[in-house]
Amino acid sequence: MPNDGLIETPATLENTPSNFIRDIIIHDIENGKNGGRVHTRFPPEPNGYLHIGHAKSICLNFGLAKDFGGKCNLRFDDTNPSKEETEYVDSIINDVRWLGFDWEDRLFYASDYFEQLYQWAIQLIKQGQAYVCDLTAGQVRETRGTTTEPGAESPYRNRTVEENLDLFQRMRSGEFPDGARTLRSKIDMASPNFNMRDPVMYRILRAEHHRTGNDWLIYPMYDYTHGECDSIEGITHSICTLEFEDHRPLYDWYVESLGIHRPQQIEFDRLNVTNTILSKRKLLLLVQKGFVSGWDDPRMPTLSGIRRRGYTPEAIRAFCGSIGVSKKNGIIEFPFLEHHIREDLNKRAVRVMAVIDPIKVVIDNYPDGLSEPMEAANHPDDVGMGSRTVPFSKVIYIERDDFREVPPAKYFRLSPGREVRLRYAYFITCISVVKDENGAVTEVHCTYDPASRGGNSPDGRKVKSTIHWVSAEHAITFEARLYESLLLEDAPQSDDIAEQLNPNSLTVKSDAKIEPSVKGAKPNTHFQFERVGYFNVDIDSTGEKLVFNRTVQLRDTWAKIDKKST
Ligand code: ATP
Ligand code: MG
Repeated sequence: MPNDGLIETPATLENTPSNFIRDIIIHDIENGKNGGRVHTRFPPEPNGYLHIGHAKSICLNFGLAKDFGGKCNLRFDDTNPSKEETEYVDSIINDVRWLGFDWEDRLFYASDYFEQLYQWAIQLIKQGQAYVCDLTAGQVRETRGTTTEPGAESPYRNRTVEENLDLFQRMRSGEFPDGARTLRSKIDMASPNFNMRDPVMYRILRAEHHRTGNDWLIYPMYDYTHGECDSIEGITHSICTLEFEDHRPLYDWYVESLGIHRPQQIEFDRLNVTNTILSKRKLLLLVQKGFVSGWDDPRMPTLSGIRRRGYTPEAIRAFCGSIGVSKKNGIIEFPFLEHHIREDLNKRAVRVMAVIDPIKVVIDNYPDGLSEPMEAANHPDDVGMGSRTVPFSKVIYIERDDFREVPPAKYFRLSPGREVRLRYAYFITCISVVKDENGAVTEVHCTYDPASRGGNSPDGRKVKSTIHWVSAEHAITFEARLYESLLLEDAPQSDDIAEQLNPNSLTVKSDAKIEPSVKGAKPNTHFQFERVGYFNVDIDSTGEKLVFNRTVQLRDTWAKIDKKST
C-alpha cells in the first residue's frame, strides 16, 4: 500500500545522510506499515546522568521522529527502585531539553504501567506461560546451563495455574521475604538464547520507589517491562543499542503472547569515544569516590559536564549527525568530537585576549601613567560582531611561553634583541631582562615603536610573530581551569577505572589575566582567548572571583588525523 499522504516528506530529509534505520522507516512508510506512523522513544533508566552516548540515541530517536513528521516520547524505564532517584530524573529531563528536543506532553514512566504489567503477568500465568519459582537467584543462575548445555528445568515449573495465581498474588501482598520467590516465564530451558531460558519477570523487593513509594513489594524486571511499555505507547520503531539484539526474541515473545501491538526493534552501535568512559555505572563510581567534583565536572562526558565545560547543543547534534549509525560497535576519536565543538564555537565566540601563565613586560619608553584604548575586532571574519577597545599601558603581561631568553631554532617570538607585534597595539623589541636570585626571568624590558600604533608596520618592515597581551593595570585576575582527557589510554584497559585516570586531567592556573571587557560576563558565555583556546565562564564565578573553563584548545588535531588517513 503506498503512503496515503498522512506523512509529508519533510524538507530536511534530503539533507540528512541516509542510514539503514532511515531506510527501514522509509520502506515501512511506503508500505503503509503502522498506517504510515512513525513513533519512537528515548527510554533512559534514571540511575545516573546522561552522557554523550545517550546524546547519540536522543538525536537519533527525536531526529527520526522529526524528519518523518512523527512523534518521540521520553520514557523513564524505572523498574529498579534501589538504583533510581528523582535527582537523575530531573537531570535527564533537563539534559534532553538542553539538547534541543521536545517530547510535548509525552513524558512517561514504566512505573505508570506497573498495574497493567501485573495484570498481564496474570494473563501469562493463566495461559500457562508463567510460573512462580521458589529457587533462589543463585540457584536460577546455576541452573541456566551453558552455551553448550541446556539449562535445567525448575522443579516448580509445572505448578498449576491456580497455585501460580495464588502464590503470585501472595508475593504482591507481602507474604514472602525478599528474594524468596520469583515469577518466571515458561519458555525454553534449552534455547540457544539464554534470554529465553525461563527468564525472571518479577522479584520480591522491599524498596521504596521514587514514584510509587511503598505501593509495590514486587518489581517487574527490565526485560519483562521494556517491550510492553513500547507496545502501550504505540511505538512503531523501537531503536536501541546492539546489546539488546539477543533480547529482541524475548520482547517479541511477551507482546505476541499477550496479543498486543508489536513494535519493531532495530539495533544500532553504541557510541564509544577514546580516552573517556560511557557507562553510567563507572561514571557514578568516579563521582562517589571523589575522583571528580560531581556529575557536572567539566571532565565528565556527561551532558551536564560538557555543558558546563562549554560544549554547545548545536555542536553535539552536529557530531551525532556525522558519526552515523551502523551494526558494528567501534570507537570515535575524541579529537573528532572536539573538532565539532571548535567548528561551532569558531562561529559564535567573541575573541578576547587573556594570558594564562603571565610574565611581566615593561615598555621602558612608553609614557608613565598613559593608557590608550586599542581597537580590537570581536571576530576576524564577522564584522557584524563588532569591536571593542582594549586598554594598553606601560606594563603588560604576556604568556611566559612567548618569551625565551635563549630562543631555540625556529622560535620567532620575543627574545633579547627580537622585535614582535603586540596584537592590536605596537611593535616592541626586547632590550633586557630582570632575574630573581635563582636566575629565573621575572620581568622583560622592551621599547616600542610609537609609529606602529594598532600593530601596523610603519615602514613595511616585517616581524615574524604576533603575540597577545593584557595591560597589567587594567587586567582582571582569574582562575583558568585547563582540562586534559579523563583517561590515559584510548580505551579502558580494565574495569578498574581509577587506575587509568589521567592525573593531569585538570590544571588550575589561579593567576591568569584577562582584558577588562569580559567584566560581568555571565556563566557559560563563550570566548575565544586569542592564540590560546575556547573558554567559557564557569558557574563557580562570583562577584569577586572569575573562573574560566578551557572548553577546547585551538589546535585541531582531528584535521591532522583526517589528513593522515586520506
Ligand atoms: P549505561 O551503560 O551508560 O548505563 P545504558 O544503556 O544502561 O547506558 P539507558 O539509560 O538504559 O543506559 O539508556 C537509554 C538509551 O540510551 C538506551 O536506548 C540505550 O541503548 C541508549 N544508549 C546508552 N548508551 C549509549 C551509547 N553509548 N551510545 C548510543 N546509545 C546509547
Ligand atoms: Mg541500562
